[in-house]
Amino acid sequence: PFITFEGGEGAGKSTQIRRLAAHLQTLGIDAVMTREPGGSPKAERIRALLLSGAAKRFGTLAEAVLFSAARIDHIDTLIAPALARGTWVLCDRFIDSTRVYQGASGDVDPRQIAILERVVAGDIMPDLTFILDLPPEVGLARAGARAGADSASDRFEAEGLAFHETLRAAFLAIAAAEPKRCVVIDATGDEEAVETAIWSAVVERLDV
Ligand code: C5P
Repeated sequence: PFITFEGGEGAGKSTQIRRLAAHLQTLGIDAVMTREPGGSPKAERIRALLLSGAAKRFGTLAEAVLFSAARIDHIDTLIAPALARGTWVLCDRFIDSTRVYQGASGDVDPRQIAILERVVAGDIMPDLTFILDLPPEVGLARAGARAGADSASDRFEAEGLAFHETLRAAFLAIAAAEPKRCVVIDATGDEEAVETAIWSAVVERLDV
């Protein structure tokens, strides 16, 4: 199975991925943890360009294409081979972040994002997507508390609260439109509570 974790800043995606991987391991299930942008050596180089803001100079569409270029390598070298050998893939951000951060944000026409998605991801669609939902002010406070973390200082987190409200609404809209794939998780709870909610959905929806 291919599981993706989506949501705004400070939602706890990486923590929950680690917890789910550990839980699966206790059951003898092999899982690989990865993230976007990045996840493979070449894609991590593109990530550095994207998060520094340098890619913005090329224009927003070209930037979206760079996210896609990173995804091609990530899928080809890590995600597809892992799924082919039956390993679970737990990915921090995937297509929904592109739809939301590049599309719903107003930077790029969502129709162009949809075309890129089809070309790049093709059949590699998540079996299950967790939308970790929480009010932006709570998430941003958490992200800010991650002192010195590279993500806390990147340009994407420097936007105003209204921008983050737009992102949140866009994630929730995706979940409402694709209820078979997406599960919204209340991410305001403590780590254990969120882990429990995620695990129930995994058991309910996937073959464990
Ligand atoms: O997962 P994390 O929050 O560390 O993501 C790194 C940054 O990349 C985030 O601040 C997010 O806003 C940004 N991002 C983006 N478009 C994507 C994926 C991530 O703008 N498709």
